[in-house]
Parts: sequence; structure tokens; C-alpha cells
Amino acid sequence: MNESLAPQWRKLGHFEALGPAFFTYLQPTPVPAAHWIATSASTAQWMGLNPEWLQTSDALQMLSGNAATDGHKPLASVYSGHQFGVWAGQLGDGRAIMLGETEQGFEVQLKGAGRTPYSRGGDGRAVLRSSIREFLCSEAMAALGIPTTRALALTGSPLSVARETMETAAIVTRVAPSFVRFGHFEHFAARDMKSELKALADMVIDQHYPECRTAAALEGNAYANFLQAVSERTARLLAQWQAVGFCHGVMNTDNMSILGLTIDYGPFQFLDAFDPGHICNHSDNQGRYAFNRQPQVAYWNLYCLGQALLPLIGDEELTIAALESYKTVFPAAYATQMLRKLGLPDDAAGTAPEQSRFALLVNPLLQLLADNKVDYTIFFTRLTQAVQQAHNANINFEPLRDIILDRAAFDAWALTYSEHLTQTDQRLAADLMQKSNPRFVLRNHLGETVIRAAQGKVQGQEQGGDFAPVQQLLAVLQAPYDSHPAHADWADFPPDWATSIEISCSS
Ligand code: AMP
Ligand code: MG
Repeated sequence: MNESLAPQWRKLGHFEALGPAFFTYLQPTPVPAAHWIATSASTAQWMGLNPEWLQTSDALQMLSGNAATDGHKPLASVYSGHQFGVWAGQLGDGRAIMLGETEQGFEVQLKGAGRTPYSRGGDGRAVLRSSIREFLCSEAMAALGIPTTRALALTGSPLSVARETMETAAIVTRVAPSFVRFGHFEHFAARDMKSELKALADMVIDQHYPECRTAAALEGNAYANFLQAVSERTARLLAQWQAVGFCHGVMNTDNMSILGLTIDYGPFQFLDAFDPGHICNHSDNQGRYAFNRQPQVAYWNLYCLGQALLPLIGDEELTIAALESYKTVFPAAYATQMLRKLGLPDDAAGTAPEQSRFALLVNPLLQLLADNKVDYTIFFTRLTQAVQQAHNANINFEPLRDIILDRAAFDAWALTYSEHLTQTDQRLAADLMQKSNPRFVLRNHLGETVIRAAQGKVQGQEQGGDFAPVQQLLAVLQAPYDSHPAHADWADFPPDWATSIEISCSS
């Protein structure tokens, strides 16, 4: 009866068509007593799937890795990568299994579905807490308009998984038009497998970057154009991360999507107090992936991709030129993002850098927020409200002054800001700010709160897991610009215990 609701699989997905050098066919390993934790109807709709399917037991079994798959063959792919700046050699889908590609062109992966030939001693599983974080953050990012892999469902099982302590297993169903990473290209380049490298690049270009075939730029070199297009998408992604205060935490080249999507949610964090040097990954001792280093790291990663593509581009200068655009696209995109948060348009073309709104308003503001450890999201929410309620550029800055210690410095900034605001249409500014400044982001303590409920650890009591809060938080994060009066506390300052949450790579 539910047959027609289930995903319709392509006989041969685009990735699968690349052939056996790229993956291994295998079945997910079943889990006992699979149960739902949460689902995203929004992702179902996005991928052209009827959300009602997610209420069927067929869906539960398929998305827990328990259903026999016929008509499509699941697979795990091989890739390599640079981890923390060092060549790590072969990695691969150690615990992600791609069920297949739907007729609509979406790849569906189960993360935590058991061991694969690329598990390297790992158990192929993912624990409940990290899976809840990946599920929620994928959907939070999508609602913020930030490119990301999506999450369709989250299922759990009482199956024990050993980490620092014993935990239980969960499986996130991830969906994306492609899960190809920079590391896939590095893998074949490192092995001098040029025909596989070319097949991979051709498939990705034909499917996702067809304009690179015909673009005249970079001497009409399709692979150079491709590298440039990836650099630009990555630059725009990084601009969005920085503007919303998102720290990824593990920007290894195997965690970089060739489509410029946010992928592999691990120890990520949305900043509470603005701290440019914030390190969200407890295992990142050197701070390689600190918040303010992310844009530079993305460029470094693109450079690795460039080296991998060099045999196809066939010209070192063209390769460098293709990467070069990152250095202009990132700052321009970041300036646009930050000015939108202030309700202001881009600077007119030809504005001298030192006269730009970025130099006069954004830089001093970020310095002020850092010096005073001001909550990043709340600052912009309050600024949005102040502008929305202002009469004739008469802004009541008191709610902002209240959260800043150095009031004199803030007053000086506010004066300059008011002057800029009077030069624009204030209603348009308020609208722009409303759309650019989320009230709700997935702060660590919010994730931790619903995780503890799901683990059955509420107020020190062990009880059955309560998964409803995951679905409730999802609903709020899927509409992050709305006010959600019933959950106003989720937009509030983090509690004191939030600083003691340590998120490591263990997942
Ligand atoms: P990550 O840091 O999560 O991006 O993972 C890096 C590599 O380790 C990837 O190849 C993963 O597939 C693999 N990996 C991480 N955790 C596990 C696990 N529990 N079992 C098998 N492979 C894993
Ligand atoms: Mg990874």
C-alpha cells in the first residue's frame, strides 16, 4: 500500500555509474528495535517525497538499514584527504552507506549504518548525541539559507556503542544532490589514476557545473573553470558561515563538499559571545579550525583541490588563476552578508576601501563585540528590533547598551551607524535585517538540552528517552527568523553551564 510513497530509485545513479574503482557495494548492518527519533517533512518535500511516507514502518526499516534493498544497490565510497593539515591517505565512507540516487536526482545516505571497507577499525556506528546534532544542524542551516546536506530522518536503536562511555546508536538519513568531497579528487590524484580522476570531474561538471564546459574564461579550460566555480561557491559558503557565527570545527579536505555545501556536522558550534579566536572542537589543540581561521583554511583546502585537478587542467598558472577568485569573492560576499545584518546596501562600486561601510561600521563593530564578549545573535536581534521600532532614525539603543560594558565605545559606533541608516530607506533596512538576523540558532546548550532528554538524563534521573523536544527544537530552527513566543527562552543568553559543554570529535 505504501509502495508508491517510497523513494523511487534510479536504476543506475550517477556516482554508481563511475564504476567499481569508486566504491564498494554493501548492505547496511541491521539494528535491533529500530525506532523513530525525529523526521523532517521539509526535507521530504524538498526532495519530492511525500512526507506521509515517513510515518510508515517501511520507511522506519529502510532508514534504519533494516530493509532488504532491491532495485538499487547500496554502496560506500572511497576518498582520501588532508586532516589537520596533514595528508591522511585513504579514508572513505567509514560509516555512511549510500542507499541510492532517487529519480529526482537526490543521493540518500544512512550515516551510522554499520561497518564498511573504509571503517579503519571504527565500528561504523554513530551515537545518539552526535546524530541529534547533525540532524538538527542540517535543517537549521537549510532554514538559514546556508547551503548544506539535508537530513530526512533520525532513527535510534538500543544497540550499545562504545565511546568514552557506553551509548546507544542512531542513524541520520542524509540527502544531497551529491556527496562528492574534495577528498574524492585527492584520492585519485594521489594514486595517479588520471582516467578515474577525469571521469569523476566530468561527472560532477556535467551534473552540477555544466556552464564550465562552455565558459570562455580561463582559456576555456573546463577543469579550470570548474575549480574556479567551486572556489566561488566555497567562498560564498564561508561568507555565510562567518556572518551567522558558525564554526564547523573539522574543516579537513574530506569534509569539504564539491558543491559548496556544509557537510559532516561534528563538533560545530554557533558562537554565543563573539570570540573571533573561538575553537569549538575540543580535540583541535592548535586552533587550526578556530572561527576566524575558517576562511583561510577553506582557501588552503581549495589549494589541495587545485593540486588534485592540476593533471586535468594541465597548466599551473591557470590552476592558480582559478583559485585566485576566492580572494575577491569571499571578502565581497562577507561584506554583503554583514551589511545586510545592519540593514545596509553594498558600497557603491569604486568606494575606497577605507571609506567603505565595511571599514567604517563592520570592523569596528566586530572589535566592539569581541572586546565586550557580546552575544553575537542577541546583539543583531536587538539591533533589528531597535531599527524596526525607530521613528525618523531616532533609534532607542538602550537594549543594546545594556549588553555592552564599554558604553562610550558603543555610543560612538551607534552614532556612525545612525548616520548611515538615515541615508537609506529605514523600512527597507528593517525588512532586510528581519530576514538577515536569525533569533534562533542551534546553540550548544539547546542541542545539549534535547540530547539529555532523548538520552533520558533529565535532572540526574535515568528514565525512558523523550524525543519530543528534538522535534520541537527542529520546528523552531526551521523558522529561525520568527518570534516563537512559546520558546522565547531558546533565543535567550546561554546558561552558565553552556561554557562547560565540551564537544570533541568522538561521535
Ligand atoms: P569525520 O571526522 O567524522 O569526518 O570522520 C573521518 C573519517 O573517519 C571518515 O572516513 C569517517 O567515515 C571515519 N569514521 C568516523 N567515525 C567512524 C566510525 N565510528 N566507524 C567507522 N568510520 C568512522
Ligand atoms: Mg568526515
